[in-house]
Amino acid sequence: MRVERTRSGVRRALVELGAAKRTVGLVPTMGYLHDGHLSLLEASVARCDLTVMSLFVNPTQFRPGEDLDRYPRDEERDLEVAEAAGVDLVYAPEPGEVYPEGFCTYVSVVGLTDVLCGGPESRGRDHFRGVTTVVCKLLNTVGPDYAFFGRKDAQQAIVISRMVGDLDLPVEIVSLPTIRDPDGLALSSRNAYLDPSERERALAISRALGRIELAAEGGEDLRAALEGAREELAAEQIEPEYLEARDARDLSPIDRFNGQPVLVAVAAPVGEIRLIDNVLIPPRPMEG
Ligand code: AMP
Repeated sequence: MRVERTRSGVRRALVELGAAKRTVGLVPTMGYLHDGHLSLLEASVARCDLTVMSLFVNPTQFRPGEDLDRYPRDEERDLEVAEAAGVDLVYAPEPGEVYPEGFCTYVSVVGLTDVLCGGPESRGRDHFRGVTTVVCKLLNTVGPDYAFFGRKDAQQAIVISRMVGDLDLPVEIVSLPTIRDPDGLALSSRNAYLDPSERERALAISRALGRIELAAEGGEDLRAALEGAREELAAEQIEPEYLEARDARDLSPIDRFNGQPVLVAVAAPVGEIRLIDNVLIPPRPMEG
């Protein structure tokens, strides 16, 4: 497995690996790899001849005061995990390589990034501007046929698919299911910072979402299901930043099942740690 720190190094490596004649998969990550990342790497290795993983904690998607400096990092271990998973090339740049002095060009997806995590009460739309800008740059550097994303960050996957479509980027976005611990907690690099009692409380998030899924299957109305989920969180003193149901295709707000696929997404602090999770509910008949 090769590790490159510069764009020119990546391009050279891709030529030497014969990328032009092979199917290339890209898995963008911020490192501190867990089984969620691994599921994306495995999907890429299974589908593509060459798998490239990027390892970059992207400063432009963090707001001042967020956890950029505290974001967990362990490059040595990440490289071991990537190699064992069959990754061919890792691109692990320094921030100055991605954002050289004078950098002033951004990619923004309008509208879809104003809600949920992009809302003013949440991380704000600049968060997604940072995400789309860095993903666009990574796609340009690597030129993959496929890029793999997790539905754990459902809004991110939707926003990136939109960007790729709108800008005619020649890549297929593959989004894959959320990997969870056996007790339901969605895997996240930030889980490493939960102490045992916070981790126990955090389980209320996946329980709340599971409750909404069950309610949907049982024909309960959406508002009642959301109310039940709020109670589940409140019982563990978790006050969500947002808990919302949206049309999974365009993130427009909805308050009843109406034959559309529904994304129910939540962001909530548990202690100092901000966690996100979601469920995708397949189209259900219209509420009466
Ligand atoms: P991150 O390193 O957190 O930026 O995540 C890199 C990629 O892994 C993103 O596409 C995430 O959506 C995906 N990912 C993170 N956690 C999970 C998970 N629990 N299950 C599946 N994919 C995940």
